[in-house]
Amino acid sequence: MRAYDIIRKKRNGHELTDDELHYVISGYVRGEIPDYQVSAFLMAVFFRGMSETETIRLTGIMLDSGSVLDLSNIARPKIDKHSTGGVGDKVSIILAPLLASAGIVIPGIAGRGLGHTGGTLDKLESIPGFRTDISIAELKDNLTHIGCSIMGQTEEIAPADRKLYALRDVTATIDSMPLLASSIMSKKLAEGLDGLVLDVKVGSGSFMKTVTEARDLAKLMVKIGNTRRVKTVALLTDMDQPLGKTVGNSLEIKECISALRGKWADDLREVTLTLGAWMIEIAVSTAGFTFQAAGRELAGIDEYKKGLAELINIGAAFKKFIEMVDAQGGDVEAVLRPSLLPSAKLIKQVQSDRQGYIRKMDAEKVGTATVLLGAGRKKMTDTIDHAAGMILNRKLGDYVKAGEQIAMFYYQSEEQAGEAEATFLSGIEIGPDKPELKSVIVDVIQ
Ligand code: URA
Repeated sequence: MRAYDIIRKKRNGHELTDDELHYVISGYVRGEIPDYQVSAFLMAVFFRGMSETETIRLTGIMLDSGSVLDLSNIARPKIDKHSTGGVGDKVSIILAPLLASAGIVIPGIAGRGLGHTGGTLDKLESIPGFRTDISIAELKDNLTHIGCSIMGQTEEIAPADRKLYALRDVTATIDSMPLLASSIMSKKLAEGLDGLVLDVKVGSGSFMKTVTEARDLAKLMVKIGNTRRVKTVALLTDMDQPLGKTVGNSLEIKECISALRGKWADDLREVTLTLGAWMIEIAVSTAGFTFQAAGRELAGIDEYKKGLAELINIGAAFKKFIEMVDAQGGDVEAVLRPSLLPSAKLIKQVQSDRQGYIRKMDAEKVGTATVLLGAGRKKMTDTIDHAAGMILNRKLGDYVKAGEQIAMFYYQSEEQAGEAEATFLSGIEIGPDKPELKSVIVDVIQ
């Protein structure tokens, strides 16, 4: 078998066999097939797509490139959540300690920034000392004693995704349905879960721009999860504008800390609590879990959301976050006093040049502007600036006067700001009519 022939077969639009997919993926993981051939393979998949059968095969091969976590010694339900990628999407960092405080175990295996979207690992690493490269033994220890932990892929867990993810990021092959589905599901199925909730983003800042595409991706991933006997539910959530008020690593960690202390933007609150409620729902329906508050057993998504909000209000979720940061080597003092988190040298106000309602805030443009400020990678070897990013002082539907601030940029050198500002402003539309605001929860696929 030759990689060349497999690339050509996919380029010509044919379905690949299990052996052929296995040859490319395992050859790449072993370092026997070079980046340039796998890049060509990924681009062929991007243009030609994959059948459902092929995607299920690819996911299985990526999963089998490593091992599946054995968490059978932990009796509590093991449930995780994963997002298809968005801008300002910091939900996993809030959900892990929140659900752990409810009694669920969250073995989070997360990714880095991809294209214009941010990554949970990069965000967490903006906490000085926080290690995402912990061992499986440490992960299991944290899950047993705290209930949550977040780490990256390792040589043991989903190594194929680790390599492919980094390559896709720099070869414009992220937004392909089979590649997204196999990347996410191979990581998540390696966690040894009882259940999984997927946050399929839809809109300008998502890899899926239309509800139809997002729904197809959601159905595909739900099918892969359920085929593997991991109860999987997908929520379609709005990504037509960034989620919450910050974009960029340490700024998003500050927003998470504020949320865990009970002060958060409405959209971030709604998405987080709804995803969390579905995680509880799966734990109740598949693992015999009961979620109680004030001595009463809660039932249904609305009650679960209220119960989770209460865990934030009483400080239980924040306490778990501190425990997780401490266990992973992070500076707890910086969490208690977020002004100690990395901060940028330069700050710039971005102002509106006219008055009116914000009618559009293109989330991809916001994400790209944030990458230009230094918060993301342009090539595989780039290091990121944890302090770079922006605070959004206005969002969709807000009224601004001419000269009023829309956002505040944080960065390290003047040359980064010009192109970032132009990119950001090219995604903003201001007009006399207030736009109709959509619900952040678009659909639920079970
Ligand atoms: N998250 C992942 O884990 N993989 C992707 O391809 C995109 C988002």
